Amino acid sequence: MKKRIKQLLLISLVIITFYMVFVEPKKIIPKSIEKEVLTALSFYPELRQVPIEFKFKKNIKKSVMLAQPTLGSIFKRKDQRGYKILISEKFKITGKEFKTIEVPSDILIGWVGHELGHIKDYQERSALNLIGFGIRYALLKEHVKKAERAADSFAVSKGMGDYIISTKRFILDNADIDENYKNRIQEYYLSPEEIMEMVKKMDSTGN
Ligand SMILES: [Zn+2]
Repeated sequence: MKKRIKQLLLISLVIITFYMVFVEPKKIIPKSIEKEVLTALSFYPELRQVPIEFKFKKNIKKSVMLAQPTLGSIFKRKDQRGYKILISEKFKITGKEFKTIEVPSDILIGWVGHELGHIKDYQERSALNLIGFGIRYALLKEHVKKAERAADSFAVSKGMGDYIISTKRFILDNADIDENYKNRIQEYYLSPEEIMEMVKKMDSTGN
């Protein structure tokens, strides 16, 4: 009997080692935001096999989160590409500082959902197209607007409308949030009203 238990233990150990060495983890998610990230991911079942690393950064200029293809995988086949979502540990507020993990759960889910929308957008693009996309994003306001609205639209079409609206409202209705950031949100992203319109249309066409 004891021998059998030993054998079983040995087999499990071999399987676990094999798994750790040969099966690359598809998602890397910090524990502190795991619940929110998994909720957002549940709206995108088609991303299940896509490697995405969620990573905290001390500070990201001008935004709270940022989705990008990993450098090593940009020239890989579209279906083998991996992505990173960088998350700023805190974000800019007039007067005081907000810690990203202290933002209410639904708001964080909406934020992550928007970033996953960017990944959906990137997935369709070739490596050259992605590089051009990055350059245009840095240089052309009109392009930022297009890209941000595309990400919002993907998230809404996946059924995340309510979360996306909560996130926008949180920013636009929060007196503590920097006016410049609010203006940016108003200028480049879908407005809560536009999102409600989209959701209504989706409901009426049964999508
Ligand atoms: Zn965005």
